[in-house]
Amino acid sequence: MSWKHEIIDGPNHKYPVFCDVDVLVVGGGAAGVAAAETVGRHGFNVLLVERYGFCGGGAVAGLSGTVCGLYLSTKSENAKPEQVVFGFADSFKNRLYDKGGLTEPIIYGHTWTVAHDPLIWRETADSFLQDANVNILFHTQVIGVIQDGHEVLGVLVNSKSGIAAIHARRIVDASGDADVIYRAGYTTSKGKSGVIQNPTMIFRMGGVDIDQFNSYWGEDSISPTKIVEKLISDEHSDHLPRKKIWIFNTSRPGELMVNATRILGRDGRDLDVTDPVDHTEGELTAREQVRSYHQFLKNNIPGCEHSYVNDTGVEIGIRQTRTIKGIETLTNDNVLNRYKSDDCIVNSPWPIELHSGDKPYVEWLLDDYYEVPYGTLVPEEANNVIAAGRCLSSEHEALASCRVTAQCFGYGHAAGLATCLSINENIAYRNIEGSAVRNMLNGEGAKL
Ligand SMILES: Cc1cc2nc3c(=O)[nH]c(=O)nc-3n(C[C@H](O)[C@H](O)[C@H](O)COP(=O)(O)OP(=O)(O)OC[C@H]3O[C@@H](n4cnc5c(N)ncnc54)[C@H](O)[C@@H]3O)c2cc1C
Repeated sequence: MSWKHEIIDGPNHKYPVFCDVDVLVVGGGAAGVAAAETVGRHGFNVLLVERYGFCGGGAVAGLSGTVCGLYLSTKSENAKPEQVVFGFADSFKNRLYDKGGLTEPIIYGHTWTVAHDPLIWRETADSFLQDANVNILFHTQVIGVIQDGHEVLGVLVNSKSGIAAIHARRIVDASGDADVIYRAGYTTSKGKSGVIQNPTMIFRMGGVDIDQFNSYWGEDSISPTKIVEKLISDEHSDHLPRKKIWIFNTSRPGELMVNATRILGRDGRDLDVTDPVDHTEGELTAREQVRSYHQFLKNNIPGCEHSYVNDTGVEIGIRQTRTIKGIETLTNDNVLNRYKSDDCIVNSPWPIELHSGDKPYVEWLLDDYYEVPYGTLVPEEANNVIAAGRCLSSEHEALASCRVTAQCFGYGHAAGLATCLSINENIAYRNIEGSAVRNMLNGEGAKL
C-alpha cells in the first residue's frame, strides 16, 4: 500500500473556533513543556495541545529513558560528572529527582546520563504546567494551519469532538516533526538526502538480578566488546541488526531499560516515519525485534535468565524527522569546533551519536561543549512561529548531537522567553537579538 497522488473534492466545511490565546504550544515533549511553562509563568494566556493523554513525547512515549546532555565528557581519571546545562532543564531534573523518578548519574562512555521513570516524568510535567497556569488540551492533534501571508493566525485541531480552530498571536512548534511549520508551507528538509536516523523501540525488562547483571556487564551502560562479539556471532544474528547496544539501571528495583533495536523496513530499507505506511511497518517490526533482543539477553547475560519484558515505548522512538530552515543553522563544524557566541541560547556537551548502519557512530566532545545559536529556532519565512526541540535548523550529524533531552528543555525555555519578548515588544521572532534571549535565560538561572 502507498499514497495515491489523486485529489478528490471534499465538502466545504466551516469550523468552530475553540479558543483564542496569546500563545499556542504544539506538542508536550521536553521542549513544549519548557516553552509552555515559561510563557505561563510570565503571565500570558497559553494553551498546550498534545496528541497523547500525557506529556513527554520521545522521552516518555518513546521511552528514551534518560536525560542526556547535562554533563561534560572526559577521559580524565577519577573525574566526576560536571553539569553544564541549567535553567529549566535543571529545575525539571531536580523535581524528578525529588519525586523519586531519577537515578544518580550513570556512566555512558566518556560521560554520564541520568535515567528517569516515565510515569514520574508525566507527573512532573503536569505539576510544572499546572503551577504555571498553562491550559492543556490532551488527545488533540494539530492537523492544519490558518494563514495570512507570513502570519499564522492559528491552527486546526482534531479531537473526538471534531475539527475546530484555535487562534493564537504566537505559536511555538514543539511537535518534534515541525508539523506547524511544514503545514504552513515553510521550508523543511529530512536527514541526509532524505535518509533519517533509525528509530529504536526501547523496552524495560523486569525480574532481573541487578547485582549479577552489573558485575557481568560493567559500569558503562554502553555494551562492552564481549557483548558486541556475542551479538555478531549469535545464531539469530540476522534478527539482531544492531551490535552496539545500551542498557541502563533504572530507579525501580530489578529493572533494566534496553536501548538495542534498530528499526528498518522488512526489506532492509531506511524508514521515513512521517509516512504512516512506513511508521506502521516500523511498529510491527519493532515489537518482533524487542522479543529477539530479549531472548538474546535471557540466553547470554547473567542476571537476565528470569527476566521478562514489562513494557515497550507507546511508540517506536523517533530520533529525527523534519528539520526547519532557520535564519541560522547549526553546522557540523560548529559542533566539532565547540562554537560559542553571545547570541547562543543552549550549551551542549553531548557527543555526535548517529544512529545509522550496524553500530551507532559516536564522536566525543571531550572536556568542552558548544553553544546553539538562537536563530536555529527561527524559521526563515515565518513572523510569528518559532520552533523548539529536535526539529531545529541543523546539519545532519550536528543534529545527532543537539537533539537530546537536556538541550530540548533548553530550546523550549529559550523559545518561551523569545515569545514573551516578541509579544511585549510587538516584534517578529527574526528581529529578536539572540543575546537578549541569552540575557533573559541567564536571569532565570541558565548559566550560559
Ligand atoms: C530511541 C531514542 C532514544 C533516545 N535516547 C535518549 C536518551 O537516552 N536521552 C536523551 O536525553 N535523549 C534521548 N533521545 C532523544 C530525546 O528523547 C528526544 O530528542 C527529545 O525527547 C525530543 O524532544 P522534543 O520536545 O523536541 O520532541 P518530542 O519528544 O518528539 O515531542 C513532541 C511532542 O509533540 C506531540 N505532537 C507531535 N505532533 C503533534 C501534533 N500534530 N499535534 C499535537 N501534538 C503533537 C508528540 O506527541 C510529542 O509529545 C532518544 C530518542 C530516541 C528516539
